[in-house]
Amino acid sequence: MQNINEIDELVKLISKLPGLGPKSAKRIVLKLIHNRDELVKPLAKSLADVYKNIVRCKICGTLKSNSIECNFSYCKVIEKKYDKICVVENISDQWSIENSNIFSGYFHILGGTISSVGQKKEDLLINSLVERVKKDNIDEVILATSATVEGQTTAYYIQDSLKNSNVKITKLAQGLPVGGEIENLDDGTLFSAFKNRSKLNSNSD
Ligand SMILES: [Zn+2]
Repeated sequence: MQNINEIDELVKLISKLPGLGPKSAKRIVLKLIHNRDELVKPLAKSLADVYKNIVRCKICGTLKSNSIECNFSYCKVIEKKYDKICVVENISDQWSIENSNIFSGYFHILGGTISSVGQKKEDLLINSLVERVKKDNIDEVILATSATVEGQTTAYYIQDSLKNSNVKITKLAQGLPVGGEIENLDDGTLFSAFKNRSKLNSNSD
């Protein structure tokens, strides 16, 4: 294939997506080119819409549409429904936990970990977590960060940030393999990790 800048650029971009290397990126690009009207046009529109309209909630970290207030993770609590917040690194972690039906409560999505490359502490919405705990009268904060060095460092930092609030802090424990990322765990492991979560501070139950 002769070098065509537009195609090279698209292959380069698509190969940055999770699970895709240059080879699959090339196959995707060919498929797109051969289906200009059915795929390229609607895909370009859809990408533009997502770029324009989808933002991260500055309070709970979930994704939301620009035009509506966030209520998916119930971060603006009108009527108190739950007394627990589960803190996760990414939305995919929230989806895994929701799918396993082991937790009913609010979620707080950090959007990464403290040591992630280029991740600034202030982007992790830890201050807004402390606010939520206070404002919504939360009884328990469950730290469901990964069993990686970064995940555990982040959990420790959050625990420290919450030391002045009268809230029980627990973290997922047994069943979580060292180096295990939440989104890759099967339901059974996740269930066991939730059930056996350990208490991190001495605040009352
Ligand atoms: Zn929110």
